[in-house]
Amino acid sequence: MYRIPVYQPDLTGKEREYVLECLESTWISSKGRFIGEFETGFAGFIATPHAACVSNGTVALHLALLALDIGPGDEVIVPTLTYIASVNAIRYVGATPVFCDSHLDTWQMDPADVERRITPRTRAVMAVHLYGGACDMPALADICRRHGLKLIEDCAEAIGTRINGRHVGTFGDVATFSFFGNKTITTGEGGMVVCGDAAVDDRIRRLRGQGLAPNREYWHDMVGYNYRMTNICAAIGLAQLERVDEILARKAALAADYRQALGSLPLGFQASLPGEASSHWMVTVLVPTAEARGAVRQALAEAGIETRPVFYPIHTMPMYCDGQPDFPVAQGIASRGINLPSWHGLGSADVRNIAGVLATCLEGIA
Ligand SMILES: *Cc1c(COP(=O)(O)O)cnc(C)c1O
Repeated sequence: MYRIPVYQPDLTGKEREYVLECLESTWISSKGRFIGEFETGFAGFIATPHAACVSNGTVALHLALLALDIGPGDEVIVPTLTYIASVNAIRYVGATPVFCDSHLDTWQMDPADVERRITPRTRAVMAVHLYGGACDMPALADICRRHGLKLIEDCAEAIGTRINGRHVGTFGDVATFSFFGNKTITTGEGGMVVCGDAAVDDRIRRLRGQGLAPNREYWHDMVGYNYRMTNICAAIGLAQLERVDEILARKAALAADYRQALGSLPLGFQASLPGEASSHWMVTVLVPTAEARGAVRQALAEAGIETRPVFYPIHTMPMYCDGQPDFPVAQGIASRGINLPSWHGLGSADVRNIAGVLATCLEGIA
């Protein structure tokens, strides 16, 4: 096992107390007070009118697409540099993912490339806020407005990320979050779908709950899903949410520590947009060459330090690689990127230790 993991959940708030309440009250399924309280609390944190919790971040994306009525024959523009779930959800509804390249500095979807990939079939753009940074939402919203496209935000990695004080997930039509165990706040497995439109929210809730018709028991008037979150998960989520600002502050401090400790090394960092406050979900560096990455990860592993490779571009995977062009920026980032240990319990001594191993190893390579 690694001495320093890339991530681990912090359950030191009221998680245990709230989960015990679920067990003692027997409200362990998808009804109970924590569901509504977690949704209301989360909507308040994001400053959005509607938030519906679901069983994970992937089904949250599925519901977002369904709620906007995106389906067969539609194209959705999505960055190739993302986690697989963003793209799979587009496939689930029978639509076609159209990949775009990343911006060289921010690593986010490049608005200029998005615009180039618009066709008469394009229905939506899915912005993915990568590693805690923010996509250029003003630019993307402008493109979508001019071309009559829906805008979906995958904010799984961006709980706490803001642009000029406005939380991501409030710029598009629908946005999704994930509470997997390595996300900024966790419910074990879980997700949230947020939107500003009451009719869209209503559709999301009905699709989440088997397409149940209003005011009539066991009568279903659309094909729905069971994508509900349990009261136990919501209990954990509420306890996490109570500490989200503290967690974010510690992550910002950790990221600043890393920048200082690694500043003199030949490493690339993710740049932020003007006005951006990152959630610093994953501290990620680019090593000088693709060839060096294996050796760097190996040296860190031998010192008990876990790392992850940056996501492989989705257009290179077997289900999606047919007839794809190159996406040189995304491919470059993906081949040189390493996620460093990023959970907020790490201290300055850990960061110095990691920096020391990196310095020795990079010296050997140069
Ligand atoms: C984690 C993640 C998801 C999926 O979330 P799950 O809760 O694991 O289903 C989707 N998109 C991105 C970008 C993610 O990082």
